[in-house]
Amino acid sequence: MSAAGPAAAIASAVRAGDRSAISAVEESLAAIDAAGELGAFNAVTAEAALARAGAIDRAVEAGEDPGPLAGVPVALKDNICTRGVPTTCSSRILEGWVPPYDATVVDLLGAAGAVIVGKTNMDEFAMGSSTENSAFGPTRNPCDPERVPGGSSGGSAAAVAGGLTPLALASDTGGSIRQPASLCGVVGMKPTYGRVSRYGLVAFASSLDQIGPMASTVGDAALLYSAIAGHDPLDSTSIPEPAGDLTGALAGDVDGLRVGVVSELCGDGIDGDVRARLDAAATALASAGAQVGEVSVPAAVFGLSAYFLIAPAEASSNLARYDGVRYGLRVPAPGAVDMNVATRTAGFGDEVKRRIMLGTFALSAGYYDAYYGKAQKVRTLVVRDFAAAYERFDVLLAPTSPTVAFRFGERTANPLAMYLSDVCTVASNLAGHPAISVPFGSGSDGLPVGVQVLAPALGEHVMFRAAAALERLLTGAQAPEGATEPVEAKP
Ligand code: GLN
Repeated sequence: MSAAGPAAAIASAVRAGDRSAISAVEESLAAIDAAGELGAFNAVTAEAALARAGAIDRAVEAGEDPGPLAGVPVALKDNICTRGVPTTCSSRILEGWVPPYDATVVDLLGAAGAVIVGKTNMDEFAMGSSTENSAFGPTRNPCDPERVPGGSSGGSAAAVAGGLTPLALASDTGGSIRQPASLCGVVGMKPTYGRVSRYGLVAFASSLDQIGPMASTVGDAALLYSAIAGHDPLDSTSIPEPAGDLTGALAGDVDGLRVGVVSELCGDGIDGDVRARLDAAATALASAGAQVGEVSVPAAVFGLSAYFLIAPAEASSNLARYDGVRYGLRVPAPGAVDMNVATRTAGFGDEVKRRIMLGTFALSAGYYDAYYGKAQKVRTLVVRDFAAAYERFDVLLAPTSPTVAFRFGERTANPLAMYLSDVCTVASNLAGHPAISVPFGSGSDGLPVGVQVLAPALGEHVMFRAAAALERLLTGAQAPEGATEPVEAKP
């Protein structure tokens, strides 16, 4: 089996009565407290977490099973609605807004016995790749506090990487789970579109958004994914089938697995260090018996341009609801329109305003066909090119981020430079496919590098199988019965 991660270890100890949920939660709260300078959390819900942990301990004492995540502290990205707990999206415009309901994933975490300990920092409305766009100040990368944790889910990635919580939930519209996971040296996974309910996730670009897990091991990520995946009638885009069972995926070997390295995502703009780790991953998989080859996904090179039209277009519509009437901030002014303008001017940060303008332009009469319409056609090409690639390969391999973690301020002056951080991740969102970033050693400066495993729609099982194998190949962990021996693939 894949080495049991810290979340799995806590859950099994709590279920067996060997450890109290309270002690696990206290440990997490103390770590969060001690790491305040990371800026990972917007809010810590200590009192509610301890009360919940106490209830779990009483359930265990009464002979009940609290579930597969019993007593495991979990951090939630602050765009996931929590009843009675402010949900800010790291934006001034939501200041003071307290959701009257829980997201479906929050209900599911509760049903699995998890304990939510707080809400994590993020780029405002999940727009960004460094968490520098938070209205509450940036999050620091636990691997090097002078560098960004990536984004937009920098707080969730830092919480896991810094050992503050064993698990975190985040959202991925164009890479926001995978890229920060890569930059912080943790596992981050975007499920197939529709696999995890979006009910209660504050909408950024509804056709791309997915909630997914972050963890320090592939096994823990699979555990969290299994707890939140499945049909939800409250989300009309939810897949109306139960999520597939992952049993066996983590122990499966890669002998005979067909792995395609995406040539378009490995060329210009990819740092040598990142390329070297990708090559090491491909070599390791091949030594373990996988059939590794190169594959072309021609439309992938246009993915970024299409994404930066489609996502802002949807955002410009989704964010129209922040009008000073229904949610959060209201800046008083004489007349409704003036109030609306004053509220949005004061409440949104620069990047959010840029996206709203970009999206409104792309959708405007006269430009719609040239921009939004064309981007949708590119999206279709991306889907077709992936389909062709999956005729020959079971999974695809690509870098997650073109670079390791960068320094604060390095990309803020040039939006295009920031957008290029997403070049390897957006294609999966456009296609609606699952993808996972697995740490695979580090670059010459010691900073973590993640490798991305992509799979076709509903291909989570084979994706986790390849990811778990990669993790074992890197760490030299014992392969499961019948699987191939680990090979030399050290960082
Ligand atoms: N970095 C990308 C953006 O700025 C992706 C964000 C996301 O996945 N939420 O849009």
